[in-house]
Amino acid sequence: MIFTPEELKIKDESMKPFIDPEEIQETLNSTLSSPEKVREVIQKSLNKSRLTLEDTAVLLNANDPELIEEIKEGARTLKERVYGNRIVLFAPLYVGNKCTNNCSYCGFRVSNKEAVRKTLSDEEIEQEVEALEDNGQKRLILVYGEHPDYDADYIAHTVNTVYKVKKGNGEIRRVNINAAPLSIEGFKKVHEAGIGTYQIFQETYHPETYRHYHLGGKKRDFDYRLTSLDRAMEAGIDDVGIGALFGLYDWKYEVLGLVRHTNHLEACYGVGPHTISFPRIQDASTLNWNREHIVSDEDFTRLVAILRLAVPYTGLILTARENPNIRKEVMHFGVSQIDGGTKLELGSYSQSLNEDQNLNKEQFLINDSRSLNEIIDELLTDGYLPSFCTACYRLGRTGEHFMEFSVPGFIKRYCSPNAILTLSEYLVDYAPQETKEKGWKVIEKNLQDLEKAKEKVNTSEIRRRIERIKQGERDLYF
Ligand code: SAM
Ligand code: SF4
Repeated sequence: MIFTPEELKIKDESMKPFIDPEEIQETLNSTLSSPEKVREVIQKSLNKSRLTLEDTAVLLNANDPELIEEIKEGARTLKERVYGNRIVLFAPLYVGNKCTNNCSYCGFRVSNKEAVRKTLSDEEIEQEVEALEDNGQKRLILVYGEHPDYDADYIAHTVNTVYKVKKGNGEIRRVNINAAPLSIEGFKKVHEAGIGTYQIFQETYHPETYRHYHLGGKKRDFDYRLTSLDRAMEAGIDDVGIGALFGLYDWKYEVLGLVRHTNHLEACYGVGPHTISFPRIQDASTLNWNREHIVSDEDFTRLVAILRLAVPYTGLILTARENPNIRKEVMHFGVSQIDGGTKLELGSYSQSLNEDQNLNKEQFLINDSRSLNEIIDELLTDGYLPSFCTACYRLGRTGEHFMEFSVPGFIKRYCSPNAILTLSEYLVDYAPQETKEKGWKVIEKNLQDLEKAKEKVNTSEIRRRIERIKQGERDLYF
């Protein structure tokens, strides 16, 4: 595959800032979009090539409703051809909301005196993880404010604490992190604790806007944040997640910023980000945001489709910030992971706290507060195959989205069977009767599809393992 030498010959050096706002703006301003060009670019992506900044700008500048529909159709086709019907599930676990930064859009910022501050004790982490395991979760992302209390040793300690909690058949098999940037030494420590992905969102790739919204604390330093995932890579973490907070600046500019960040990591480390996140700003306690660049639902669905085509081999994460209808729509464009059963208030998985969302205790409000089972049930009804698979990471097969994309038959040999096995565990251990019935039907349909596939997957071993799961064995994977 895939990259021409020209594409990889980017002027980037590792650990050096790489965003040139004029280059991005100029690319947006000077790239013309015609129906022919849009179709050519969609085809390039369907032929499994990563798009350049200019290609992506062609898609971003297509404003005609019919062309926008063609772009969305292109994203749907890519998803169906390459990724199939799996959706991986996870949940966020907020560990501590003390914060020394002052990000105007965030309820945790230091100047918000209304915020109720809390850091979970080890015992509380254990209780939260037990409650999450009781719901069937296997993959978590731990979230922290930026504070001297939450240094690398502390983060590593909390990761170890989570991995140790086993309740019944429950266990957490992959812990990802969303926390402040660390030094190379710091990243090494959390890497050794066995984390999956380290996510850091740049928030905005527009330096002037960045300064406007980040009013104090370490996070004010745009370049330090921009190069943080370079440091993570230098420390040996090769699963990193990037993201932009949509609503701070022009969404088209931010999409190019994300593509540029991807190019940079590829040029310097030979591997792009594992995942891309695209949160939209939600209401938060004493939110200070002027809404000038608010992203409408229509533009949001457009940007997800464009991102899918622009970086066809990267995982896309969609969170409960979005409402169920939007989530349903953009899942067709190749979102690979969603959260389910999400609660943001610290301690709320284990304690029966007031079900209403409380702005002063949460970072922001979410729009999809359905339980994990409700979400799984809907996915099954819609023909998806919910998955809790963590096999690649545990077998040292990092960069699995890239392999899914580029290794012929990889999904049918590994991902689909592992999705089936982890869903089987969920059905046996946690699902109510109605979901069980739906789930086993979906599994049977997927097994039959695998049997009919041109790769001719031998499903008898998968069927044998399902039986072993029914007999009580756990954690079987390919
Ligand atoms: N404190 C760390 C940091 O800022 O990178 C990590 C955790 S922060 C709690 C996670 C992400 O939440 C931020 O990177 C930001 O993109 C997002 N976020 C903050 N305020 C938000 C809001 N009002 N609505 C939606 N997302 C928000
Ligand atoms: Fe702190 Fe992160 Fe919120 Fe900024 S976004 S105030 S760094 S928790």
